[in-house]
Amino acid sequence: MDEARVVSAVRKRLFIGGEWVDAAGGRTADVVDPATGATLCAVADAAPADGRAALAAAVAAQPGFAAMAPRERADILTRAFTLLHERVDDLALLMTLEMGKPLAEARGEIAYAAEFFRHFAAEAVRIDGGYQTAPAGGARFLLTRQPVGPCLLITPWNFPMAMGTRKLGPAIAAGCTSIIKPAPQTPLSMLALMDILAEAGLPAGAVNCITTTEAGPVVEPLVRSGQIRKLSFTGSTNVGRMLLEQCAEKILRTSLELGGNAPLLVFDDADLDEAVEGALAAKMRNMGEACTAANRIYVQAPVIDEFGRRLAERMAGLTMGRGTEDGVTVGPLIDEAALRKVQTLVADAVERGASVLTGGAAPGGPGYFYPPTVLTGVPRDADMCDQEIFGPVAPLTAFDTEAEAIAAANDTEYGLVSYVFTNDLRRALRVAEALETGMVGLNQGVVSNPAAPFGGVKASGLGREGGSVGIDEFLETKYIGIKMD
Ligand code: NAP
Repeated sequence: MDEARVVSAVRKRLFIGGEWVDAAGGRTADVVDPATGATLCAVADAAPADGRAALAAAVAAQPGFAAMAPRERADILTRAFTLLHERVDDLALLMTLEMGKPLAEARGEIAYAAEFFRHFAAEAVRIDGGYQTAPAGGARFLLTRQPVGPCLLITPWNFPMAMGTRKLGPAIAAGCTSIIKPAPQTPLSMLALMDILAEAGLPAGAVNCITTTEAGPVVEPLVRSGQIRKLSFTGSTNVGRMLLEQCAEKILRTSLELGGNAPLLVFDDADLDEAVEGALAAKMRNMGEACTAANRIYVQAPVIDEFGRRLAERMAGLTMGRGTEDGVTVGPLIDEAALRKVQTLVADAVERGASVLTGGAAPGGPGYFYPPTVLTGVPRDADMCDQEIFGPVAPLTAFDTEAEAIAAANDTEYGLVSYVFTNDLRRALRVAEALETGMVGLNQGVVSNPAAPFGGVKASGLGREGGSVGIDEFLETKYIGIKMD
């Protein structure tokens, strides 16, 4: 009953220039519940002409939005923060239906998503500038910060609300208009957010939302239009790489939050209970479908058997099922392709010598379920050491020395996040400094926090989202030189 109500409450059209409109030709695309494989509803499926309409709306709204008082923009974000919390039950259910994560996690994501609005409401009124004397005297430097202009925001399906608010929060705070394109698997959360932003007082055209199954043909003309000033993309490294090439033509400002291959290091002096709980959190948040998911777990040889036993026990105790059901802690994967990928990666690791401590076989039946799985003795040449597993599979590999662990952890093109478990302070800091990642969790398995800068190095991306620097990505610094004599 509630399920039908929350789905039917969402406007399933494109949000352009403050209006809800159909896609060109009335095209629609189905949204599927990954727990059952059943169709939930259909939403508008934008064509390139709709992308151009959204661009025109964002461009037209830009001067007025940039001129709006920062306090007014902050107030809009604050009202939207409140509305997200007021509607958390419905929004969480909607997210669980389209994405599959358990309700408790969906509620957690709504709170996390809302926090970006609260954080950037505070940043909106603290955009600074400067006035200084030139080193040689005489001239003065006046520094001011201006919105970069209309932005294109592209998000993945794994955090349908938070990946959007992490971009929209700073864009709105900075005074940038935007077009947001959510992933076709999970458009409903972002469409629901459009209603909230409109209700919070966002001016028409300041945020436009287009849902489409033709990302390439819709997005590329916008990137090359010369009217978009910034691309902020969260998704896979391959797509990010291709978009970065497209952005080169018009030298667009780019922020890229890309794939990860997070190492999690457990030293033999670690508190093993803490390490097991940390690994569980780092692995199982979002069923392992997170860029921050622990993808390779390196455990010092003397404790690997005990660590593996305890982790397998905890993983086996989780309850898999439809995320809407009470007590479920592990939902389905997003689609059949994701399920097949996890099955293939596990089969490859086992073929190369890994042993299964728990899980390891999909139950079959409706929905894209894969059970929590722990593998040990995973060799370096297993495909899962180089690729994002994006599923509930924890691969353990033994190491002997600190240097060996650091070398193994850094042996990847990715560099988003790493995790270190040790009770030796000097080792903790030494290893954290040596790891080639944008973020490090020390004795903790979750690092995401709207008030901290989130982002990666190497092929995991460019720029940071959140924290006090998150708004910088949406601002240009203008220097005005003043002749005084
Ligand atoms: P994806 O396939 O790269 O898609 C991400 C978004 O890009 C989707 O909206 C997708 O739409 C769109 N897209 C794909 N091809 C495009 C093109 N040619 N032009 C414009 N847009 C295009 O990634 P995903 O499978 O949705 O998400 C999982 C990936 O995201 C993982 O690699 C994960 O690590 C990464 N991720 C990173 C972070 C981070 O903060 N670093 C956070 C979350 C997820 P279509 O699906 O229609 O193609």
